[in-house]
Amino acid sequence: MVTKVIPLFDERSSAPLPRPPAAYAAPSGTLLDTRGRAMRDLRISVTDRCNFRCVYCMPKEVFDNDYQFLPHTDLLTFEEITRVARIAKDHGVEKLRLTGGEPLLRKNIERLIAMLARLDLDLTLTTNGSALAQKAQSLFDAGLQRVTVSLDSLDDATFRAMNDVDFPVQKVLDAIAAAAAVGLKPIKVNAVVKRGTNDHDIVNMARHFKGSGHILRFIEYMDVGASNGWRMDDVIPSAEVIARIHAEFPLEAIDPNYPGEVAERWRYADGSGEIGVISSVTQAFCSTCTRARLSTEGKLYTCLFATQGHDLRRLIRGGAGDDAIGAAMAGIWSQRGDRYSEIRTAQTPGIKKIEMSYIGG
Ligand code: SAM
Ligand code: SF4
Ligand code: SF4
Repeated sequence: MVTKVIPLFDERSSAPLPRPPAAYAAPSGTLLDTRGRAMRDLRISVTDRCNFRCVYCMPKEVFDNDYQFLPHTDLLTFEEITRVARIAKDHGVEKLRLTGGEPLLRKNIERLIAMLARLDLDLTLTTNGSALAQKAQSLFDAGLQRVTVSLDSLDDATFRAMNDVDFPVQKVLDAIAAAAAVGLKPIKVNAVVKRGTNDHDIVNMARHFKGSGHILRFIEYMDVGASNGWRMDDVIPSAEVIARIHAEFPLEAIDPNYPGEVAERWRYADGSGEIGVISSVTQAFCSTCTRARLSTEGKLYTCLFATQGHDLRRLIRGGAGDDAIGAAMAGIWSQRGDRYSEIRTAQTPGIKKIEMSYIGG
């Protein structure tokens, strides 16, 4: 049972921008945090709005008609986003992922994609798929390379209940097909598994995507934000997901594509493709976490579970030059020591966490 919590606006407050490290000279190439982790990925939230109300992310009881989303003037413009991404590239970022909220709800998103594509980085997007069939061609033409589509069940009733807006599963399946047809592939399909809600569909999903060329990944349900009423009992450990699939379709573990890859990879012994599991709860991967997040209103977060962001928009709109923004970024990253998933449990329940739809999943 979810109680109504109005997320505290002071959760969105900013930490003071740290001083740049003494050794900083912009552009400085690879930045390392206090645990020796580089800043390699930038996840950019382009909107805090969504047309779904997934029970584990934006429960209706909290994200209702009275919920105050950010006004448009608070959102970073496409020019501002591109500028931050370019400066982040100077500091070692190699991958950009657009997310939200639902990124395809941001008007003219193709224009942003075209601007970011010029940076010549790996450029992807995570979507709920609701508007993907119509937009797949224009996204690809703008320079998007791949998409990740979230899909929690193939069972229509279960899927409708999880997105909680009665959205039919077939439309998401059509969107996956449309995206693959225009060349946005390989497609990753992300399923968050919640015990008693969609775990009955794990093997069926594996069966459906086996041999399709799409990579299905099961994500452990996480305690992000303050509104989803998370309980450890609702988490199905990835080991259990693998065991259930392995019993039907034998699996073999395979090496990561690159060091620090978040998903653990498994391939079907019969050669019909691979699946992944993301075990943020039962096997934390903080020690190799290279992800920074830029919120919709321009705050830089160094962890999905951070309690404060660093206000880059204030700098940008205050007239700061690229050097000053780069110096701020270097200062923030060099002081980073985040490892929430490693220390989750007894020490963490009181933490005021930011909602995933705001910070960007
Ligand atoms: N709206 C887009 C979507 O759903 O793909 C992008 C944003 S969404 C926040 C990004 C990803 O976060 C989705 O794959 C979603 O399933 C995942 N997610 C959201 N809440 C989660 C939670 N509590 N635990 C694990 N994953 C979660
Ligand atoms: Fe929207 Fe994505 Fe969150 Fe679902 S997971 S409510 S689609 S932002
Ligand atoms: Fe990275 Fe924070 Fe997640 Fe750990 S908890 S993997 S530091 S985002």
